Formats: sequence, structure tokens, C-alpha cells
Amino acid sequence: MRMRLRVEQDIFSIRQLGREVARAVGMEAQDQTRMATALSEVGRVLLAQGPDADVTFTAELYGVPSLQVTMAHSAVGGASRLAEQLQQVGRLVDTMEVDDGGAGTTVRMARRLPPGAPVLTPSRMDEIRAGLAHHVPGSPLDELAVQNQQLIAALDEVRAQRDDLARLNAELEETNRGVMALYHQLSDELEETNRGVVALYAELDEKSVQLRAASEAKSRFLANVSHELRAPVTAIIGLGRLLVDSSSDELTEEQARQVELIRSSASDLLTLVNGLLDLAKAEAGRIEPSWSAVDLKAMFGQLRGTLRPLATRPEVDFVVDEPTVSTIRSDEVLLAQVLRNLLTNALKFTESGSVRLSVRRIGPEVEFVVADTGTGIPPELHERIFEEFYQVPGSKPVSGKGTGLGLPYARRLAGILGGGLRVDSVPGEGSTFTLQLPVEGT
Ligand code: ADP
Repeated sequence: MRMRLRVEQDIFSIRQLGREVARAVGMEAQDQTRMATALSEVGRVLLAQGPDADVTFTAELYGVPSLQVTMAHSAVGGASRLAEQLQQVGRLVDTMEVDDGGAGTTVRMARRLPPGAPVLTPSRMDEIRAGLAHHVPGSPLDELAVQNQQLIAALDEVRAQRDDLARLNAELEETNRGVMALYHQLSDELEETNRGVVALYAELDEKSVQLRAASEAKSRFLANVSHELRAPVTAIIGLGRLLVDSSSDELTEEQARQVELIRSSASDLLTLVNGLLDLAKAEAGRIEPSWSAVDLKAMFGQLRGTLRPLATRPEVDFVVDEPTVSTIRSDEVLLAQVLRNLLTNALKFTESGSVRLSVRRIGPEVEFVVADTGTGIPPELHERIFEEFYQVPGSKPVSGKGTGLGLPYARRLAGILGGGLRVDSVPGEGSTFTLQLPVEGT
């Protein structure tokens, strides 16, 4: 579709034609007005440079369908000023280019068709062309009336949008107030919780200080009391021995029996007192290991020799394996003490089967394993047996007696030697105590 702009009145015609073309290719009312306004503005600016401008409407059917308008004017050299003048108008269309060729100035504009616009087939294009051929341009007054109506509609829309915006703003403000209130409430609650946590920590700190103080007091008390008890108990044992000595006066049979009872009770008491003293010393940190290379072969031989007399039951195999690790760096006396405690327990609680001591190396550590086929310990008591004086209810040693101090002491010593002590046990099947120590000491 072509048209020629000659006089000012043609600006109205191009405006009307532009609107018609935009409507015909399927643009919405607002876009029709935008297109018409853009055309009349460009027309006005071009005519100001002199008469005669050619206007061509074309449609791009491929890719994104769009309406394109080219306005060519014979004036040369004004492109950049024109582009500046048309800057505002450019916002009404999708693209606008101003070219300054040898033949004159060309303004190209394009605007995309909406997605729902009817497809521009060749036959539809013929129809549009035929329709536009019958288009009779109205008078400037007609155009003014149309323009006024459009202006009124646009103003209405602006007002509606402003109202919408005001409502949205009010809603946003309301929401903001709500969010702020929530935020304040949350931060108050958080502060409150924090205060609580801080107070709790302070209380915990205080409690642990008290606990440490109580535990130290207990260790001190035990150490003092057992130390004080040792002398009189040793005296009782000595006196008992004197009383039954052959060089002393003859005792009646009953007297001899009673003196023997006193002696054995006193010696039980001494064992207990010694155990308490050892434990108190270990807990107070008063045991300093003396590190040296410990010959395990020699130590195992000694344990075999000293404990064999305890393995009196023929139904129990007492086995001390040949050590597969020759030396470790540790405290010989403390290490032997731990193993002796474990082995005596194993012998005490095993009626038949075996008690076995072995050692194996695992990376930078060694594991001493004392395994028995004795009564075993219920799983829920695996930790409790390491508490002072705890003895598994109903568990009677096959031989000997106990104080309930052997395991807590052994675990303390294991810690002092830089390792740990743990138990695996199944009631009725047996127990395995594992002492884990660093090969190189600490
Ligand atoms: P005790 O002097 O009573 O042996 P321990 O502290 O050495 O004290 O042991 C605590 C308790 O753990 C024992 O009384 C016993 O009930 C249980 N126990 C320890 N070793 C074994 C074991 N090898 N088999 C079964 N029970 C065991």
C-alpha cells in the first residue's frame, strides 16, 4: 500500500490510513492508535523539511509477523537531526531507523503483530488491499473527533491504572506492615530464646565446675581415707597372724576359727582399700606413666606364670598366645596391671571353655584382646560395668571375690596410657575386652 504526502492535510490522511492498515492486519485498538500517531508525527516532521514524501506499508509474513512502514523524503543530509527529533516517536513502535542515502532520507518503522492476529496469507493480503482501496479519508474535523475519543479513552485508562496502582500500593503497604510486625515478633522471640540459651550455658558451666569440684573432693576423700585405713587394717592382719603363730599361746579350735575369720575379712578390706587408693590416685591424675620399650614376649610370659595358679579349673583352657608384636612404647607396670585385671575377671567368670590373651597390630595401634567363654554381660550393662563398685546383678564369680573397682581402674589406666578399653559380650557366650594402645606411646 502506498501513499504520497504533499500538503499538511495529508498528515490527517496518513494518520487515518495508518490506523486502518493497523486494524486490517489485526493490531489491537491501542496499537492502532500508536501506529497512527507515529505515522502522523513522522509525516509532520518530514513535511516540515519540504513537500513530497512517499509512504509504503508492507507486511513481514515470515518469522515474527510485523507491519512495516517506510517513509522516504527527497531532502538529503538531515538524518541525525531527524533521528533526534523522532526519539520520542520511536517509543511508539518496536524499531525505528533513520537512513540518509544518496537519494534522500528514509524513516523505517516496524511493529510486531499480536500473537492472536489472523495469519496474513496472500489471499488475506489481497482482501486487505481491496478493503483499503475503498477507504475514503475523512475530513480533519472527523479525525479530530476520533483523536479526542481516543484521548478520552486513554485518559480513562490512565485513571483506572492510577486507581489500580494506588490500591496495589495500599495493599503493599499493608503487607509490609504485616511483614514488619512478624519480623519484630520473630526477632523478639529470637532474642528471648538467645537469652534463655545463654542463661542455660552459664548454668551448665556452673554445674560442670561444681561437678568437677565434687569429683575432685571425692578423689581427695578416697585417697585420704584409704590411706588412713591401710595402716590399721595391715595391723589387724599382722596381729591375727601373730595370734595363730605356733610360738604364741595355744588357741582353742573355736578361737582359731574366729581369728582366721578376722584375718580373712581384714585382708578383703585391705584389697578394697588398696583398690580405692589406686583409683583415687588415677582419678586425681597422680599417676605418671614411665615410658619405655616394653618387651611383650617377656610380659606375656610373666602373666602366664603369675596367673596360671588362678586357672584352677580343668574345664577352662588358659591360653596366652605368643605376641605377634614384639615391643611397644608404654608403661610396663601399668600395662601389666590392666591385663592382669582383665585376665583375673575372665578367669573369675568362666566356668568352662577358654580364657585367651592375644595381641594384634592395627595401623599405628595395638589391640590386646582378652576373650573368654564365660557368663557374658547383658548389652545394656556394657558401660555400667566401668562404673565404680558396679557389679552385674546376680553374676557370681566362679572363684574368688570382687570389689567392683577392677574395670574402672583398668579403664583409667588405659586412658593414662593414651588408649581406651571396650567390651563386646553376649550373655551365655562370653566376653571380649579389647585394650587399644598406641604403638609409640604418647
Ligand atoms: P569385680 O571386682 O567385681 O570383678 P570389676 O570392675 O572388675 O569388678 O568388674 C565389674 C563387674 O563386671 C563384675 O562384677 C562382673 O559382674 C562384670 N564382669 C567383669 N568382667 C567380666 C567377664 N569377663 N565376664 C563376665 N562378667 C564380667
